[in-house]
Amino acid sequence: MLKYRRILLKISGESLAGESGYGIDAGVLESFADEIKEACDLGAEIALVIGGGNIFRGLSTAAASMDRVQADYMGMLATVINSLALQDALERKGIYTRLLTAIKMEQIAEPFIRRRAVRHLEKGRVVIFGAGTGNPYFTTDTAASLRAIEIEASVIIKGTRVEGVYDSDPEKNPDAEFFPRISYFDVIRKNLRVMDMTAITLCRENTLPIVVMNMNTSGNLTRLLKGEPIGTLVHA
Ligand code: UDP
Repeated sequence: MLKYRRILLKISGESLAGESGYGIDAGVLESFADEIKEACDLGAEIALVIGGGNIFRGLSTAAASMDRVQADYMGMLATVINSLALQDALERKGIYTRLLTAIKMEQIAEPFIRRRAVRHLEKGRVVIFGAGTGNPYFTTDTAASLRAIEIEASVIIKGTRVEGVYDSDPEKNPDAEFFPRISYFDVIRKNLRVMDMTAITLCRENTLPIVVMNMNTSGNLTRLLKGEPIGTLVHA
């Protein structure tokens, strides 16, 4: 019996870049695909949202003099590039996948249709949601929350490179306090950077639990699905 059967896993674009901090690292891609395959083999229904920050962000120095909407569209396209890379890595491991995008690009992906996404999940296919929400001024965290609610996922898992939620950045402060559990309210009140406020609020309003965990620790995802206390649970 899995603790969470239908999950939405959000991976940031930056984490795909690995050490270099830019582009896509083949080793990282491979290890994420391994983690997802293990979870798939357990019988979990898996949907994925990948950010685009390793390639382009609407709010970056490169985009400083650009029109915001134009820059955000570039960011959304960046998520599609990452999605195609992850789709390829998963398919090389024999996993059936479908990429559904919020902006139509029919030669390379299906358009996002909720019922279709759910049907793919029921058939055991890993569904990747690309192009964020399809709207500027949003983030892929918000896209992940929205899609998780739409497909009635039992949890949204945010894969990071730290163990979970702390009171300050554990990569800068060695004394940072780790929270095994924390409420949405406290995340908002303490202004903790779990996800952006729009995403947190959406989860809170729809009581969708969030788990923040380290995606670089092999086996973490399956341990979480089996019910082990991995990472931080953000709850009502
Ligand atoms: N983006 C957007 N609308 C969305 C999702 C993403 O405009 O619904 C754009 C936005 O410019 C953002 C970029 O895509 O900066 C990349 O997404 P994000 O910053 O969320 O990626 P991550 O930080 O997870 O790598």
